[in-house]
Order: sequence, then C-alpha cells, then structure tokens
Amino acid sequence: MTITTAFIGLGAMGFPMAAHLARHAQATGGRALVWNRTRERAVAHAAQYGTTAADLQDCAQAEVLFSCLPTSAQVDEVIDHMGAHLRPGTVWVDCTSGHPDSARRQREHLSARGVSFLDAPVSGGTSGAQAGTLTVMVGGPTAEVDSVRTQLAFAGKVIHVGNTGAGFAVKAINNVLLAVNLWAAGEGLAVLGRHGVNVGAALEVINASSGRSNASENLIGQRVLTREFPVTFTLGLLAKDAGIALDVVESVKGSAPVLAQTLGLYRAAAQIIGENEDHSAALQLIERMNAQEIK
Ligand code: NDP
Repeated sequence: MTITTAFIGLGAMGFPMAAHLARHAQATGGRALVWNRTRERAVAHAAQYGTTAADLQDCAQAEVLFSCLPTSAQVDEVIDHMGAHLRPGTVWVDCTSGHPDSARRQREHLSARGVSFLDAPVSGGTSGAQAGTLTVMVGGPTAEVDSVRTQLAFAGKVIHVGNTGAGFAVKAINNVLLAVNLWAAGEGLAVLGRHGVNVGAALEVINASSGRSNASENLIGQRVLTREFPVTFTLGLLAKDAGIALDVVESVKGSAPVLAQTLGLYRAAAQIIGENEDHSAALQLIERMNAQEIK
C-alpha cells in the first residue's frame, strides 16, 4: 500500500530522520512531505532528498505524521495550527523527547478528530539518525504501534514500552542516566588530572575497565579531550530531559536523590556554560569547579 508521510521539524535530528522516510517512499511508491518553521530548511531537504516541502495544511492530510520538535510545548503549537485540517485515521508519531503528561493530553485531544497519537522518542544521536539506526521507544496501544512499524524507516530497533506516555518516560530516564554517567566520569577525570595523572591514559584504562559508559567511550575522548565540543545535542535539551525525568519520579512519589542532584547540576551548567552548547560542554563546569582542564 502506498502511504503519504509527513515530517514536521527538520532540526539536528529531524533532517536526517526525514531523509529515511524519503528513501522508504521512493522504494514503495509513497510520498514524503516535510515541513519546518524556517521554510528554507524544508526547501533544502526537498532539493537534497526528493521530499516535498509542504505547508501544514497539506501535512495534515498524511496518513502517518511525524514530529520532532524541542519540547511537547512546540508540538502543542503545531497541533493547534493544524486543528481542523487533520483527517480522521491519521496516526501522529511524535519523536520529540516530550513529557508523559503531554502525551496523554495530546492523545485525548487528537482522538476527538479521529487521529491517533503515539509517543515515539528516539535515541542514538545525530549519527544514529543519519545511519537510520535509531532506537525508538513507543508508548500507545499495541495495534496502533504495529500499524506504523514499517513506516519507522529511521529505526534500527523499535521497542513498544507501554501505554501512552511510557515512551517519553523511558526516554527521560535514559537521558538522565546519560547525564549521570557523563558528569560522574567528568568528576573522576578532573580529579585524576589534578592528581597529576595523564587524563588520556586514565580514560583509556576506564574504557577497558568496569567504570566505562557510553559517555566515557563515545563522548569524552572525542568531544572533551579534543576541546572540540561539537554541537549535536544541546545542554539545554539534556537539562530539559533531566527535568522530565524528575517529573516522572515525582509522579510516583519516588526517591531518586542522585537524579535530582543531576538535574540541578545540568541546570547550572546550562546557565553558566550556555544552553546552546553541546551537552558534553557540561564538563566545562566541572573544570571550573576543580580549576583543572579535562585534557
Ligand atoms: P534542534 O534544535 O536541532 O531542532 C529543533 C527543530 O524544532 C527545528 O526544526 C526548529 O525549527 C523546530 N522548532 C523550534 N521551535 C519551534 C516552534 N515553536 N514551532 C515549530 N517548530 C519549531 O533540536 P534536535 O533535533 O536536536 O532535537 C529535537 C528533539 O529530539 C528534542 O526533543 C531532543 O531532546 C530530541 N533528541 C535530540 C537528539 C540529538 O542528538 N540532537 C537525540 C535524541 C533526541 P527552526 O529550523 O525554524 O528553528
């Protein structure tokens, strides 16, 4: 069956994700529409990948509609703009790292128009988006999740994690764990540097030992020790995710003091280092706290 998909939000993630929808559409005879607030980016996408730069009204007619925006608040804005143009039967797959409460509200709101809503955030970074190997964690009813599996052309792995909101909850906890591991490794390395140890050698040991993590293996050597801090995922977005994680903790009256402290540290880093810097630049705050560069 030929399907029209639409992708809303061609940011660092959305741009390469939508390229896979274009490839899938070309292989199956379907159509891939794209929309971006700054239209030039949609036009550039169309030129590069053969998608169609459409307006929101046209995107509302797609059978499967994807969004990947900074927060659930921007998704709300787009839903409001599309309003009456939405067509019954559409499945809205939101790949934003959003808020579980918003997912439940958005699903209810859209169901009044006959539109299904699935929270389907992604993990794997911009490199995973380019490679089409993202992990997608989906919240929603099984039949609806199964109905869009073949359309998730940017995915390496699709995991149905529970009801509406569960995808966003899992994503927030995953990302606060990234924040914990990155911060803790940064503290350890700064202290070793002050101790007179070669930080590169210490990192090599850790990456061959039990203290390693994705942050130590794939971020610190490449982004911090090189002093490059390339912006692929901003500090502001990671602090936002840590905030959602703490809302998840609060929603069950949980006790998670390490996660709470991590939120405070990343909010401070976003304020002091800059919310538009790469998330790895959080370690520059640790460097200031210890008067020690991690290099
Ligand atoms: P970017 O900042 O690169 O892109 C944001 C996109 O949202 C742009 O297309 C921007 O449009 C659009 N946008 C912003 N505000 C509005 C608005 N008010 N109305 C309509 N569109 C708007 O973000 P990312 O791609 O990095 O992140 C997107 C989501 O994916 C976030 O929830 C993030 O947490 C998550 N994520 C990010 C990862 C990463 O490695 N970067 C990895 C996994 C998840 P414009 O071009 O006009 O500014």
